[in-house]
Order: sequence, then structure tokens, then C-alpha cells
Amino acid sequence: MKTFKIAVIPGDGIGPEVINEGIKLMTRIAELDGRMKFQFTHFSWGCEYYLKHGRMMDEDGIEQLKSFDAIYLGAVGYPGVPDHISLWDLLLRIRKEFDQYVNIRPITLLNGAPCPIVGGSKDTIDMLFIRENSEGEYAGAGDWLFKGKPQEVVLQTGVFSRVGTERIIRYAFETASREGKTLTSISKGNALNYSMVFWDQVFEEVGKEYPNVQTYSYLVDAAAMFMIKDPKRFEVVVTSNLFGDILTDLGAALAGGLGLAAGANINPERKYPSMFEPIHGSAPDIAGKGMANPLAAIWSASQMFDFFGFEDIGKQILHSMEKTLEEGSILTPDLGGYASTSEVGASVGEIYTEMI
Ligand code: ATP
Ligand code: MG
Repeated sequence: MKTFKIAVIPGDGIGPEVINEGIKLMTRIAELDGRMKFQFTHFSWGCEYYLKHGRMMDEDGIEQLKSFDAIYLGAVGYPGVPDHISLWDLLLRIRKEFDQYVNIRPITLLNGAPCPIVGGSKDTIDMLFIRENSEGEYAGAGDWLFKGKPQEVVLQTGVFSRVGTERIIRYAFETASREGKTLTSISKGNALNYSMVFWDQVFEEVGKEYPNVQTYSYLVDAAAMFMIKDPKRFEVVVTSNLFGDILTDLGAALAGGLGLAAGANINPERKYPSMFEPIHGSAPDIAGKGMANPLAAIWSASQMFDFFGFEDIGKQILHSMEKTLEEGSILTPDLGGYASTSEVGASVGEIYTEMI
């Protein structure tokens, strides 16, 4: 039996509430299954920590996290702490230091989940977004010239390295090839005349190594339209950091809302820990009320099982979520129900137990 060491950063707002449900479910499943054990270590980093210490995490925080098999993150962010601090000093720092260059965001409309487009179903909305997570538009490169003067100019530079572009595109081809799916690249070569022309070129080059994968290329504006008009055409999708950020929020809306959207930040070489998180923020408006939807956090726990090689369990968790959604009586208010965070978590756990 393998023991997995999980670093838990519950974070702010609803983060601790939803992560707690994920942990309960993982513990229950490990006991039922018997193939693995989890050892959770909590780190109370986040905005509260920042207000006391002037930092989002310990100075040697990265060092402390290094020996873990995975990181399970709730949400960071709080009114009073500027967003760019909470983002850069914790989330983006971990992504960068641990070279988590793949961001995987499943956009699947589970049966029973609400969808804003007419006729939306799991048959039509079932995509896997693979977003570049280490450079591109979020490289942090730029300049601010003549601040406050009439000739003021601000530059924000996208950085697309050969290594960085090739590895994300290759990862996407590997995924599509393994799953027997089509692969769509989303870029903007007509307007971004360096970065996206290069992206398209690398996509074509790497594609030659995967003649078995059917490929498509979309401009990002057209892709946004077709994700609504005809989402069925997208299966595995690869795109840049910024485009991926925007389109996966669109995707989250298509697939039941923020309360159901999960993401994994993967270091595929497994040299460093990967990080699993619901993609929603700390939602201060509903924090502390026990009404946050834990399904996004639970979905990211299912991604963790996949990552550790227990894909059967990952699938089973999704089935249990789906049963909860279809049954419809134990749902949080964002999905039109009256149940609490822990009632939804418990319901998924019970259905899981019944189904095996
Ligand atoms: P961030 O800046 O960290 O992205 P945000 O305030 O922009 O945070 P979120 O906190 O992700 O955005 O969420 C926006 C709104 O969506 C919340 O205020 C809340 O009402 C709702 N929401 C988000 N996540 C959940 C959830 N798990 N359950 C219920 N409602 C949620
Ligand atoms: Mg937000």
C-alpha cells in the first residue's frame, strides 16, 4: 500500500470549507479501497497570514512543500489584500517554482448540472482544456515608461520559448493520442504576429509526430463563439496561458458554474509536486455560511486520484457527483438547492460507497 503525502493549503474564504469536504472524501475512499493512504499536512498560508506577516506563505515555503506528492489548494484572496499580491506571492509562485507548466481543466457538463445553453448535454459539452501555465502572456515581462507623463507607454510582453511552447503542445498531443480524441489549438496568428505565428508553427511541427491525431486550429475569437454555438466540435484543446484562462471561465459557465469547475497544475516529469484546486476564488460574499459548493474541490480531488494512477476512482467520484446532481435534492444554493457544503460532501461520499 502506498502512502501519499498531501500538502493542504486551505487558504481564505470558502477555501477551507470546500477543501475539508475533499479531504473527508479522499480519506473515506482510501479506507474503502485499501490500495493507498493519505497523509495530510496543513499549511495555514493565505491572506490572513499575509496581514500578520506581510507574506502569503513562509519564506522557505517552497522548500517545505518540495517533499510532498501533491498540493491541495482551496482558494486565496481576500478583500483588503490586493489580488495581484495573493496571486503572485502564492499561487503563481508555486506554479512557477514547481514548473507546473500544464494546467488541465476538464469542461464536462455532468448529467444534472445546469447549462445556460439550450440543448446542452454531456454529449455536446465534453472538452479537456490544456492550458500553458508557465510563460506566455503571464511571463511578467514588460516596462512602464514615462510614468505619469503625457508620453507614458506601458509594455506587457508575451514570452513564448521554444521549449515552453513545444512541451505544452507535445503534452496535448500525447493526451489526445492516448484518449483517441481530436486536438484543437487555439491561437491568434492574424493579430499577434510574433507569438501566435510561432505557436501555430510549433503546433504544426509537433503534429507531424502524431499522424494518428486529427487536428484543428481556431482563432481565439472564433473559438469563443463556437464554444457556445457548437461546443461539440472541441475535444482536447491546447492554448496559451491568457487564452486558456479566459476560455476556461467561459467553459466553467457552460458546465454548471464556478461551483463545479476544477483545475490541476501539473509538473508532468513529477520532479516537483503538482497542485490541485477548484478554480473559483475565496467568494467572500458566502464565506463562513456553510453554503459553498464543494463539488469543484471534490472534482479536483478526483483529478488527484487520476494523477496518482487510480483513474478508476477518479471516474467513480465523477459518477457519484453526477448521481448527486441528477437526484437533485442535496445541492447548494448556487445550483438551486438548500443543502449545506458538508451535506453535499457527505452525499457524494455515501453515493460513492453505495456504488462500489
Ligand atoms: P478571485 O479573485 O479569487 O477569482 P472572485 O471574487 O473574483 O475571486 P470567486 O470567488 O471565484 O471570484 O467567485 C465569484 C462568485 O461566484 C462568488 O462571489 C460566489 O458568489 C460564487 N462562487 C464561487 N465559487 C463558489 C462555490 N464553490 N460555491 C458557491 N458559489 C461560488
Ligand atoms: Mg475572479
